Order: sequence, then C-alpha cells, then structure tokens
Amino acid sequence: MAAALHLRPMGAGGKVDNMGIMTRLVARLILAMLILPLSGSLFVLLIAVIASQGGPPEVYQLAIVWVIVYVFIAVYWVLLWCNLVCWTHDRMRGTIVSGLIALLLGYLIALVVRFAFGGPVFASVLFGGGLPPIAWVLATVLIWRETAEERMARITAAGTDTVLCPNCGYNMTGLREARCPECGSVFTIDQLVSGQPQRDASVLVDVDGSE
Ligand SMILES: [Zn+2]
Repeated sequence: MAAALHLRPMGAGGKVDNMGIMTRLVARLILAMLILPLSGSLFVLLIAVIASQGGPPEVYQLAIVWVIVYVFIAVYWVLLWCNLVCWTHDRMRGTIVSGLIALLLGYLIALVVRFAFGGPVFASVLFGGGLPPIAWVLATVLIWRETAEERMARITAAGTDTVLCPNCGYNMTGLREARCPECGSVFTIDQLVSGQPQRDASVLVDVDGSE
C-alpha cells in the first residue's frame, strides 16, 4: 500500500542517528530552564520602565507587574509542554487548582512578611508575589507527568501494527513521511524502529513500500 508507513521484515540496516530527537528534546529543556531568567528579566524591565516614569513604583504598580509576569509564565509554560501532556479532566482541573493554591500561598507569605516581620506593604507584595509562579510550575511538573498506567494503555492501544512517535507517542501509522505531525520530530528509519515499545530489531519501517 503506498502512502503508508508500515512494519515489515528487516532489510538492510541503516545509520543510527539520534541527533534529530536529541536536539529537539534539548531545545525544549533549554527553553524550560530559560523560563526563570526570562521571567526575571521581564520583571526587572517592567520595574525599570515604571521607575523611569518618576520614582519607585507604587504598590499597585508592583501588583500589576506581577500579574503581567504571571500571565507570561503561564502562557510560556503551557505552550512549551501542551503537546506532550495528556489533557485529562483531572489534569486540567489540577493545573487551575494548583494555580489558585499557589496564589493563596503567595498571599499568606505576603501576610507573614507584613504582619509577622512588620515589613512594609511593598516588601510583602514583592516577596509574596514571587512565590506563586515558582510553586505553580513545580506543581505542573507533578500534575502533567504521564502515569505508568497511561503509558501502558497508550502502548497497548497502539497494538503491534502501528508506528508511534518515539518522542511524544503520537500514532504515526499511515503517514507518508517519518515526521511526527504532533511534535514535529523527524526520524530516520532506525530511530522509529528503536523507538517502538516492546519491539525488537527484526522489523523495519517501510516508507511507501519502496524498499
Ligand atoms: Zn511526536
């Protein structure tokens, strides 16, 4: 059948090349690590802009800066990982609830700074505001993780006549090219074969039935 990726007995071996997957994963991890310096830079930039308009920022201006930074972090983080997350109802709810809890924790920190340590309101908003994004990002790492049951179900449902994307698990069976439409990863034949769960090297992915 033309225009399909399918498994067939192994022919000639190919060159192992994991650079495509590796660079994509590394790029994603670097982008993940960059969220802290990028958010910090945005915060400093916004404060600097306000300060340049005349004097140190007011408390309400600091609060607005935090809201802008929160939105930036939320959008950046969700866009970075949304393709790889299995968005169940529980995960979506957990993502929102953890955000609300993180905001509540930040508020409590602000209260502690203000009343337990007698700090000025500005300091309490400064410290209290910094906690929610950190707490929420850490929470999403736990909430968005694929469970062992989900992975097993995904592999089982895929059966043995399918080709899964080694990077994100997308079912690539029937595609014309060895490029995952879900995460954009491009694979060699070897990478697709070695990336299939519970499958040995006795099978080979055949593109367009030409080999
Ligand atoms: Zn993929």
